[in-house]
Amino acid sequence: MAYLTLKNINKIYPNGFHAVHNFNLEIEKGEFIVFVGPSGCGKSTTLRMIAGLEDISSGEFLINGKRANEWGPREREIAMVFQSYALYPQMTVYDNIAFGLTLQGVDDEVIDERVKKTAAILGLTDYLDRLPRALSGGQRQRVAIGRAIIRKVGVFLMDEPLSNLDAKQRVTMRYEIAQIHQETDATTIYVTHDQTEAMTLADRIVVMKDGYVQQIGTPYELYFKPVNVFVAGFIGEPPMNFVRGEVHHGVLQFGENKLDLSCKLKNIADYEGKEIVFGFRPEAIHLRETEDAYLIHSQVELTEMLGDNTNIYITTGDKQAILKVDSHDTPETDVPLDFYIPLESVYLFDGETENVIE
Ligand code: ATP
Repeated sequence: MAYLTLKNINKIYPNGFHAVHNFNLEIEKGEFIVFVGPSGCGKSTTLRMIAGLEDISSGEFLINGKRANEWGPREREIAMVFQSYALYPQMTVYDNIAFGLTLQGVDDEVIDERVKKTAAILGLTDYLDRLPRALSGGQRQRVAIGRAIIRKVGVFLMDEPLSNLDAKQRVTMRYEIAQIHQETDATTIYVTHDQTEAMTLADRIVVMKDGYVQQIGTPYELYFKPVNVFVAGFIGEPPMNFVRGEVHHGVLQFGENKLDLSCKLKNIADYEGKEIVFGFRPEAIHLRETEDAYLIHSQVELTEMLGDNTNIYITTGDKQAILKVDSHDTPETDVPLDFYIPLESVYLFDGETENVIE
C-alpha cells in the first residue's frame, strides 16, 4: 500500500492547452479517492499523470514521500483498470489474470495459487477456462480488475471502469468494487462522471471543473457543505434547486413569495441590490407547516411517481424547481401547492462569485 502526494500539479498539453491547474491532494494509505466532474474537466489527465502515462508539466508528485515525477509506469507499482477492458481475446480468463505475473517470471505454483484466490474474490472460479468472448460485460470487467489486483501493487487506478456496462450491471459491479476494496484495502483512485458512483464508493471525492479542483471532501461534506453552486448542483439527484434574484431591503422576491433573508444571513445589508442564489434540495422540503421555515407558494406542473417517492415539477413566479416527496403525498397537476423549506436547509450563494455565503 502506498500514500501519494500531489503538489501544485499542472498539465499543459503540447498544443498549449492547460488541462489541469494547481492540483493539490494528499492521498492516505488505503484511501478510496474518486475524481468526478463533467466531460473534459481533467480527470483522466490527472489519473494518467499519476500512472506515469502522461508527463507532469509542473508541480511535484510523490509516492510514499519520494519524488516520482520522473519514474516510469512500472517503477511506480501502480495497476490501472481501463474503461475498455483490454483483455487478450485468445487467452483464457486464467491466463489473462495470470499475465502480469507470468511476465515477471513468477513461479508457476505461486501464480496458480494467486490466480485461484483472485478468481474466488471476484466470483470467477467457474470461468477460468473460458475465453473473454464467452463472458458478459460485467464478467469481463471483473477479469480486468483481477488482472490488476493480482499484482499486489501499492495503488489501483480505475478510469470509468463501469461505463461499458448496463445500468443493472453497474450497480452490481459498484458493490463488488466496494467489497474488493474492503478486502484488499488498496489505495485506489477512481475516475467517473457519475455522482452516484462517486458518493457510494469514495472515502473522499475530488470535484473538478474546467481543470480546476472545486472541492475535496467526504460524500457527507460535499452534500451538506458544498462550497459553490457548481458542487451543490453536481452532487444530489435530482440536483439542488437554485433561485437567482436581487436582494431589496433584505428580501428576495419571486412571484408572490417574499423571503426575508435577514433571518438566514446576519450581514444581509452587504448584499443590498446585489444578486444572490437561493438554493434548496428537492428532498429538503416539507408539505406540512414547520417552524423556522420559508413558506413558498407554487403551482404543480408535472409529477413523476417513481415508486418510493415522487418528483414534483413546480413553477413559482418565473422560476422552476423540483421537489421530491413521499409518493403517498403525490399532488394533482395544475393545482397550487404550498411547501416549506427549513432555514437550516437553505444555501445562499454570492450571485457573482457563486461561492457559498457562510
Ligand atoms: P472525460 O470524462 O470526457 O474522459 P476528462 O475529465 O477525463 O473527460 P481529460 O481527458 O482529462 O478530461 O481532458 C481534459 C481536457 O484536456 C479536455 O479539454 C481535452 O480535450 C484536453 N486534452 C486531452 N488530451 C489532450 C491532448 N493530448 N492534447 C491536447 N488537449 C488534450
